[in-house]
Amino acid sequence: MPLRRRLRSPSQRQCLPGLPTWSHFDPEGKVLAETRTPLTRSEMMSRIRSKDTKPEMLLRKGLHAAGYRFRLHVSGLPGKPDIVLPRFRSVIFVHGCFWHGHSGCKNYRIPKTRTEFWTTKIAANRDRDSRAMASLLDSGWRVLVVWECATRTISLDRLIQTVVAWLQGTARYLELGAGGTCSTIRSSTISRESRYSEHDQSDQ
Ligand SMILES: [Zn+2]
Repeated sequence: MPLRRRLRSPSQRQCLPGLPTWSHFDPEGKVLAETRTPLTRSEMMSRIRSKDTKPEMLLRKGLHAAGYRFRLHVSGLPGKPDIVLPRFRSVIFVHGCFWHGHSGCKNYRIPKTRTEFWTTKIAANRDRDSRAMASLLDSGWRVLVVWECATRTISLDRLIQTVVAWLQGTARYLELGAGGTCSTIRSSTISRESRYSEHDQSDQ
């Protein structure tokens, strides 16, 4: 329903949380754009969802079309992998480059506002990812990380071909980014002392 029709009186307008107050509307009920507080990059980033993202949906659709069947967001596994293929003892994470701190990727830049907050937040996400992957690999799972930048720069056909080749192969770990593949696990991932904990599952 259009915003204008929902807001019938000044009192109603003032009661709706998150909307500009009455003084921010002109007499016709139009929002005066110049009086709205622009969202900072931090605020915009904090609104980005992490599940069922477009890159993830694309990959799921492509894998399904290629005949693969899988489970989604399995909470019983470390890191709650986005795609789980039990027959292949394989899991796939589709990682947003910003949220998961994709090293060397142009999409991973810490915002200029609340820099310390974001640095700490992303470091914690990376640490949690590493421990989840170490735990999965330790228990015999194979792990593929598909970075969001790969889904934006590689054609879907090529992406699916690469994923299928990995599924049918024997490599236990692979990262797929815009710059190509990487089969080297970050050193922290194989650290034996950093065990995954169920308490670390909060996503953002
Ligand atoms: Zn990236």
